[in-house]
Amino acid sequence: MELHSYYETLGIEEEVWSLGQAAEQSLAERFAKIDATAEKCHLKVLAAMQKNRVSAECFESSTGYGYNDLGRDTLEAVYADVFHTESALVRAQITCGTHALALAMSANLRPGDEILSPVGKPYDTLETVIGIRPSAGSLAEYGITYRQVELFTDGTFDYPAIAAAINERTKLVEIQRSKGYLTRPTFSVAQIGELISFIKAKKPDVICMVDNCYGEFVEETEPSDVGADLTVGSLIKNPGGGLAPIGGYIVGKEEYVEQCAYRLTSPGLGREVGASLGVTRNLMQGLFLAPGVVASAVKGAIFAAKLYGDFGFPCIPEANEERHDIIQAVTLGSPERVIAFCKGIQAGSPVDSYVTPEPWAMPGYHSDVIMAAGTFYQGASIELSADGPIEPPYAVYFQGGLTWTHAKTGILMSVQKLKDAGLLP
Ligand SMILES: *Cc1c(COP(=O)(O)O)cnc(C)c1O
Repeated sequence: MELHSYYETLGIEEEVWSLGQAAEQSLAERFAKIDATAEKCHLKVLAAMQKNRVSAECFESSTGYGYNDLGRDTLEAVYADVFHTESALVRAQITCGTHALALAMSANLRPGDEILSPVGKPYDTLETVIGIRPSAGSLAEYGITYRQVELFTDGTFDYPAIAAAINERTKLVEIQRSKGYLTRPTFSVAQIGELISFIKAKKPDVICMVDNCYGEFVEETEPSDVGADLTVGSLIKNPGGGLAPIGGYIVGKEEYVEQCAYRLTSPGLGREVGASLGVTRNLMQGLFLAPGVVASAVKGAIFAAKLYGDFGFPCIPEANEERHDIIQAVTLGSPERVIAFCKGIQAGSPVDSYVTPEPWAMPGYHSDVIMAAGTFYQGASIELSADGPIEPPYAVYFQGGLTWTHAKTGILMSVQKLKDAGLLP
């Protein structure tokens, strides 16, 4: 059977498929570069696994206190080597990315200390963690203050204002690598390195923490290679490779990671406890697959920017721009298009493909939001998923794709749904 017939079986017409083939061919050089980065990252992971003697015994499960859990300790040693850090904390007990970031901050800050974000507003969920929006249990309640320096309108760092904001109480600098769901650019690892050097020159003992969510393995190096003291992320995003069912990681300087362990479990107990409950194999194998999975997601993002950009829809980033994370935003300009797009992503999913997503009033959002996620793990955004707030400028944000074929299929399906509804220009 011809390739296009397989796509037709899924509901993608030959005309839409042809557009996809042309887009894919035009991106061949780009894709080759992505594969080359993935190859380097994969070899980095493989070397770390060999060096730390990963063995079948590592996949045994521990229960109860979890003392002497070889697999958990080996996984942490592997993470430390992949990120070139002194230490790592990689646990199922870290429930998500927000928790990992909250943990890293609360563990290393004391009353009277100040946090500085030199890159504008942090990720939404950190507003309650820090206490930018008043919230029970926030760092603000513990007498920890917060300062923020806006980026210039072109997305570059306002060095004079950053220098002026650093004071004797500044203890931790929070640098978010990915744009998240904002319209500013995502920072390259090199840019983050420059920023950290500037801050360290001004105040050498400040802790530079990078929110690395969505950035892992997109580049050959990580923020920990360019001076970050703590690098933090979620395992249901890039480094879990789609196999991690839960978890977060913190890698960095031993003294700071150790504080995180004491905060996560308890002073005195630290990293010695924390049963792995059978997830070590998934976390290890997920890390092993992660560079390839991230490459698929990056290809999907560029492919979508190419297709939708050619239709005339504004894309951030555009198809020909460098990538430093896996998020793609497409401004579709109408609620109907946002809904059709998300229906396409859902219809192309391996799980819940028969379900039709609808906009709803999600807690924490000020407008209705439509979400498409036919994922194996709930909310795993390394799997192809999309969400669109039903408000101007009617943009969809999407990311992920465990395989390139699936990323491609989901995006072609979104184009098909727009076409079916007569919503393509
Ligand atoms: C996803 C994300 C977070 C929070 O992670 P959760 O796992 O959703 O709690 C924080 N920062 C950035 C940039 C993210 O993309």
